[in-house]
Amino acid sequence: MSQIPPYLSAIAVEKIYLKSQHKIPVLRGVDFHIRRGELVSIIGQSGSGKSTLLHLMGLLDKPTIGEIHIEGQRVDDLPAATRDELRNRVFGFIFQFYHLLPELSVLENVLAPLMIRDSTLTYWRNRHEYETRAREMIDKVGLSHRLKHRPSELSGGEMQRAAIARALVAEPSILLADEPTGNLDAQTGRGIIDLLKKLNAEQKLTVVMVTHDESIAAQAGRIVRLANGRLQRLEEAAA
Ligand code: ADP
Ligand code: MG
Repeated sequence: MSQIPPYLSAIAVEKIYLKSQHKIPVLRGVDFHIRRGELVSIIGQSGSGKSTLLHLMGLLDKPTIGEIHIEGQRVDDLPAATRDELRNRVFGFIFQFYHLLPELSVLENVLAPLMIRDSTLTYWRNRHEYETRAREMIDKVGLSHRLKHRPSELSGGEMQRAAIARALVAEPSILLADEPTGNLDAQTGRGIIDLLKKLNAEQKLTVVMVTHDESIAAQAGRIVRLANGRLQRLEEAAA
C-alpha cells in the first residue's frame, strides 16, 4: 500500500434516491480513496451507480449517508457556496456527450470556465494571459488546427478533446470523466484514453474515469468495480 495519503475520499457513502415515495438505494456503503497522480477507472454495468458516485465525489450532489473528504477535510457538509467554489477549483469534468456550447468556437469554449469564474474586470485584465493558456491547453489536446471551429464542425473525438481542454484550463487537481469514450468508435476512444494517460503521466493529473467498457477500464493503473451498490477492488495493473 502506498504511503501517500488519499487526496479525495468517499467514506461509508450511501445514496438513496426518492422516486414517487419509493426509495431507490444506489450506493450501499462505498469506501473509495484516490491518491494524487492516480489514474483510476470505475467499471460497472449501466445503472450500477457509476455516475452517482462520480457526482458525489465531485461535489455535484450530496450523499444520503457518509462523507466526502478532500485532503482529510470533510467537504460534503459545507455551505453550498463554499462547495461550489471548491468544486470549481478542485475538479474538471468531462462527459459522454461533451456538453460544449454550440454557439462558441473551440477557443471560446475553452475560455468559458475562466470567464465564468472571474468578474468581468478581472477577466478583461487577464485576457491575454488566459488566451495564451487556453491556446496551450488546446495544443496539448492536439486541436490547434481547430481553434475557430464550432462544435458542429468537429468530429466526436475532436469535441471530446475540446471538452478536455476546457476541463483543464483552470488547472484542476482532479479530472472526473464520465464515460468519456461512450459516444466514440473504438479507435477514436482509444485516442482519448491515450491522451488522458499522457496527461496523467506528464502533468501528474489525477484522473478518475467511469466506464462500462472492460478494455477501456483496463488502461488505468487501478480498476474498481461497482456492483450491488458496493465497490470491489479488481487489480493493480502496471499502467
Ligand atoms: P450508471 O452511471 O452506472 O449507469 P447512475 O448512477 O446514473 O448509473 O444511476 C444508478 C441508478 O440510480 C439507476 O437505477 C438510476 O435510474 C437511478 N438514478 C440516478 N439518478 C437518479 C435521480 N436523480 N433520481 C432517481 N433515480 C436516479
Ligand atoms: Mg452513468
